[in-house]
Amino acid sequence: MKILRSVAELRQWSREARSEGKTVGLVPTMGALHAGHASLIRAARERCGAVAVTIFVNPTQFGPNEDYAHYPRTFDADCALAEAEGATGVFAPSVEELYPAGAATFVEVTGLSDQLDGLSRPGHFRGVATVVAKLLIASEADQAFFGQKDAAQVAVLRRMVVDLRLATELVVCPIVREADGLALSSRNIYLSQQERAQALVLSRSVQQVKSLAAAGERSAEKMIAAARQIFASEPGVRIDYIELVDWDTLEPVRVALSGSLFAVAAWVGATRLIDNTILA
Ligand code: AMP
Repeated sequence: MKILRSVAELRQWSREARSEGKTVGLVPTMGALHAGHASLIRAARERCGAVAVTIFVNPTQFGPNEDYAHYPRTFDADCALAEAEGATGVFAPSVEELYPAGAATFVEVTGLSDQLDGLSRPGHFRGVATVVAKLLIASEADQAFFGQKDAAQVAVLRRMVVDLRLATELVVCPIVREADGLALSSRNIYLSQQERAQALVLSRSVQQVKSLAAAGERSAEKMIAAARQIFASEPGVRIDYIELVDWDTLEPVRVALSGSLFAVAAWVGATRLIDNTILA
């Protein structure tokens, strides 16, 4: 597995793979890899002959009071996991490499970027779209792999790929959970034992809405009320949003359809967690 530090190295690695007849897969991450990331790498490996995992804590997607400085950085363990899952390259650039001095170009997916997480994290999706555009252009990947865990991010990136006429196909992989339901996240390590237990209201509310939908419930109002009731059992958890939306537009819907996105975000202590389900 090659460690690539510059955009030029990544591009060359990709072109070499292509010249050997391989398709190129890209798995963008911020590192601190866990079983959720591993599932993306495996999915990429099943479809692509060459797979690069990118490890980059992207400063432009963090707000001024967020955890950029403290975000977990575990490079050696990440490389070991990436290699064990079959990655053939790791792209780990410096901030200056992806944002050269004087960088003034940003990608903004208007409208979508102000919904859900974008509402409480202004500028977040502008940072995400910008860095992912840079990664897709640099890697010339055939396919890029993202988790449904960040469902609003998927909507923003799908729109971006269409609008910029990028050649990369986005592949969305299911949410990987702990045995008790908690969605895996690099931020789960911030949780105290008590918060870890409280955090289960997110997955419980998602599961409840999934069950309601399976039983025929279609009213967004009723689904959201049921989820709120579950959150009420943990007053220490502060809801950021509980929404039923169209997964393409991220606009709220009143009646759930197959493919509607039910998504929650909440603060558990100082840690903001998200979860969701796509209704059948
Ligand atoms: P991150 O390193 O948190 O930016 O995540 C990198 C990629 O891994 C994103 O596409 C996430 O959606 C995905 N991911 C994070 N957690 C999970 C999970 N629990 N299951 C599946 N994919 C995940």
